[in-house]
Amino acid sequence: MIHHERLRPPSHDYPADEWNIIERGFHPEFLAQMETIMALGNGYLGMRGCPEEGGPNAENSTVINGFYETHPIIYGEEAYGFAKTGQTICNVTDAKVIKLIVDDEPFWLTKANLLRYDRRLNMKSGTLDREILWETPAGKQVLITTRRLVSLADRHVAAISYCVTLLNAEAHLVISSEMSADQPTIHTDTSDPRQTSVAVDRVLHPHSDCGRDRRISLCHTTANSGLILTCMSDHEIETSCTNTYKLSHSADFGQVAFAVEARPACPVRLSKYIVYHTSESASAQELCGRAEWTMDRIMAQGFANLLATQEQHLDDFWKRSDVRVRDIQAERARRTTVEIQQAIRFNLFQILQASARAEGTGVPAKGLTGQGYEGHYFWDTEIYVLPFLIYTSPQIAKNLLTFRYNMLPRARERAKQLGHRGAMFPWRTINGEEASAYYAAGTAQYHINADIMYALRKYVLATGDEQFLERRGAEMLVETARLWVDLGFYSPRKGGKFCINAVTGPDEYNTVVNNNAYTNLMARENLRYAVQTVQAMQSAKPDAYAALVHKTGLDDSEVDAWVGAAEGMYIPYDEKLQIIPQDDDFLNGEPWDFANTPEDHYPLLLFYHPLNIYRKQVLKQADVVLALFLLGDTYSIEEKRRNFDFYDPLTTGDSSLSSCVEAIIAAQTGNIDKATQYALAALLMDLADVGGNVTDGCHIASMGGTWMAFAYGFGGLRDFDGSLSFWPRRAPEITAILRFPLTYRGRVLEVEIGHETVEYILREGASLVIHHEAEEVRLTRGQPKAMRPVSRW
Ligand code: BGC
Repeated sequence: MIHHERLRPPSHDYPADEWNIIERGFHPEFLAQMETIMALGNGYLGMRGCPEEGGPNAENSTVINGFYETHPIIYGEEAYGFAKTGQTICNVTDAKVIKLIVDDEPFWLTKANLLRYDRRLNMKSGTLDREILWETPAGKQVLITTRRLVSLADRHVAAISYCVTLLNAEAHLVISSEMSADQPTIHTDTSDPRQTSVAVDRVLHPHSDCGRDRRISLCHTTANSGLILTCMSDHEIETSCTNTYKLSHSADFGQVAFAVEARPACPVRLSKYIVYHTSESASAQELCGRAEWTMDRIMAQGFANLLATQEQHLDDFWKRSDVRVRDIQAERARRTTVEIQQAIRFNLFQILQASARAEGTGVPAKGLTGQGYEGHYFWDTEIYVLPFLIYTSPQIAKNLLTFRYNMLPRARERAKQLGHRGAMFPWRTINGEEASAYYAAGTAQYHINADIMYALRKYVLATGDEQFLERRGAEMLVETARLWVDLGFYSPRKGGKFCINAVTGPDEYNTVVNNNAYTNLMARENLRYAVQTVQAMQSAKPDAYAALVHKTGLDDSEVDAWVGAAEGMYIPYDEKLQIIPQDDDFLNGEPWDFANTPEDHYPLLLFYHPLNIYRKQVLKQADVVLALFLLGDTYSIEEKRRNFDFYDPLTTGDSSLSSCVEAIIAAQTGNIDKATQYALAALLMDLADVGGNVTDGCHIASMGGTWMAFAYGFGGLRDFDGSLSFWPRRAPEITAILRFPLTYRGRVLEVEIGHETVEYILREGASLVIHHEAEEVRLTRGQPKAMRPVSRW
């Protein structure tokens, strides 16, 4: 089912632009959505797009990835092994506030007479820029120009340039730069599980505060998770107008207020530098010391240099990652090239903002754009986001896989707790412990183990980073393989095949089922990769193998068991329909009554008891169809089409993780209309609020999935065996001409799908062999090759 756009702001105030998301009028009715859309982040620190003046806000979040508080999960009825401790990302000290008072009149957006308002998320410079012309009740015209950045180069740093110019009069100004630490952490809608569900009164507890000159720092701790946070701000004022300042601070609040005698046409520019440091082990004193060092360094650089570095960072990013479209026929597509281009860049930009400096953490489902899903990490990262990162920023991909590796001790613990061998990665978590309070759509999703291993394989094949595989990957492979062998059994009733019961697949509308096809297929893949890796190490890298045996206690006989389980894996198949049943029972269900389901009753999870959903044939999100994509080399186009035709009408797309996958299989099977519609739904998930909940934060998985829809769907990328081939599909309404780069084993390849031909250009690296459809193509740097498609495209 294709969901449609819900956010339709007036186009004259939100004009399309290739590099900016522009808002040309202040519309309080879109406040919450725009806060998400205009959020800035770097993977460590995130600030929602709230105005500098401290309001108006819908959700004024500043969050730090992995900075969380814990709380007991209260169950009405307990059971053994339920996750006990909830983890929720915290709203940290808000340091972006700069209030402006002109002749004792505070500037407040909702009350101000705005002669001009222009705000834009600038995706080329990585800044949130604003220009406002305010006429005070006394008729004084005040030009306010602000630029905010969350630094991609310095992960602990944010900065704001706040410039005020009186145009037609003199005025007494107060520019009050503030920090406040008593932010409400959690907003709650207990009826929507996608939001944060726990209310905690006070999360940040004051530890110390200090200030000197124009510098203030506030230090706080969390009570249960034992984390510590230092937030520091410092200031620089440039103006020829007379000015003085006052500094004050207390446990939860800090203020540096500048009083300025402003003259007409004489700009007053305040640069505010903000530093956050967090730790689970350092002392407050040490942390403040670190903040001082960072602050001294960035103050010495100044705002202009910070900005230049940010632009450089983005320039590099776009060179490696930009997906470009041209020549879209606007009448047919209902979208112009500029609109599609803007949306593509927005998706890629937000992935960067969610992941770039996520060092030692994962990528929250909403990135750092809001507190939805409590700042938790899911399989979203490995299956949806990593492919883009692997092919554009492999170092970030490596960091994220390293983070999973570091989680292994807790995953082993969790497996033990549930009576399993090996390791069991948590369905949702921040600190590595399972935090899902609803096991049926949480812990039961064992497939996350295989998903992580799938991403590991893709990373290793695309980068050639065998060292990572040997040092870290192999250990994860051993432990995950162990888990599968332990979990399943050879069932006499299934012809002695290896069955895996009581699990939940990706589709959360069918839970705790037997032989979920996706799980079995991905577990088989996991086992095979484990066998292959371990055997290759044993014969070619005896030292690395010995280290692996030492770390894991691996026994040769175990590998035989993995081979047995993989090759004996039960993969459900329905002869009559010639499709893969989602699980043992799925086809026995009664089809959902879509005809009598009102439009406003989606997502179903908010309107029907789970049991009413579980007993019907209805999907929240792609499940078998996802397997057809991930393991696409094992299925013919015909098989993909049959399965897609069966599952697509039953798939509500109530999860934002669905549309992108449907788009890919629709494209691969030649259903270009559907592929286009699904790709548009994924592409516009946030900008047009297709899911209806962009207020809670961006849908990062769908953003990664959107890239996959372009690269794997329309671009026709296939990479199953570690080499690259392309089977492009033309989609005039969404891509027309499509161009994208891929980083592959240290080379950079650019692919352009044109009207008649496909052009391959090797931008970096000496040579590369790829396939255009079935034909081998040998590329050398700087010598483009244009190929004609043979198959229907
Ligand atoms: C989806 C999951 C996903 C989670 C976080 C849920 O609605 O069903 O597959 O991991 O959201 O994005």
